[in-house]
Amino acid sequence: MGSSGETPGAPAGGPSAPGRQAGGTPRAALADLLAGNRRFVSGQPVHGHDVTAAAAASGDQQPYAVVLGCIDSRVPLEAIFDQTFGAICVIRTGGHVLDRAVCGSIEYVVGQLGVPLVMVLGHERCGAVGAAVDALRAGERPGGSLAHLVDEIAPAVIEVGLDDPAVHPLAIRRHVRRTVHTLRHDDLLAGPVAAGRVAVVGGLYDLATGEVALLDPA
Ligand SMILES: [Zn+2]
Repeated sequence: MGSSGETPGAPAGGPSAPGRQAGGTPRAALADLLAGNRRFVSGQPVHGHDVTAAAAASGDQQPYAVVLGCIDSRVPLEAIFDQTFGAICVIRTGGHVLDRAVCGSIEYVVGQLGVPLVMVLGHERCGAVGAAVDALRAGERPGGSLAHLVDEIAPAVIEVGLDDPAVHPLAIRRHVRRTVHTLRHDDLLAGPVAAGRVAVVGGLYDLATGEVALLDPA
């Protein structure tokens, strides 16, 4: 379904939910983000990605969530959460692997922009996790910076076990949880997380249905 951008008087659960503001609560932000995914799944997005929406959001930004996802071309984050300009910050790396630039970016969004929610979003059939499984099976570490991706994903694969027939899907989940754990203990995030001002949650995207499921719902 097409859309012409902001819809006045948006329906319940729409984009005007209270989580959509800097400094809101993690719970409200998560509800808003998941409501956007339900609009996407139902084929009733309310946000078009047109220049009118871009112009409307061209003042100061007040995003309410940051989503760290994979570079996979089948998982465009603003689309699957039905978010418009200015609503969420998006970071994408292969297999949502962390490095200093990623952590610094999240620290900035949380610390400077007052964003209360960080979501780490993995997805089924992730090629980066598959590459780590293959590298470990072959006993061959790739060259270049690709090695960094494999090195960061490998612990999740090893924890599941290469002998497990479901190693790929299980390692995807384990890797999301490990990434969430790392972020919750990040130097600048641990305090706000412990105080309940910020939540770091893990999710999984289903390529076929478009649905985002929380890995560990509260
Ligand atoms: Zn992926």
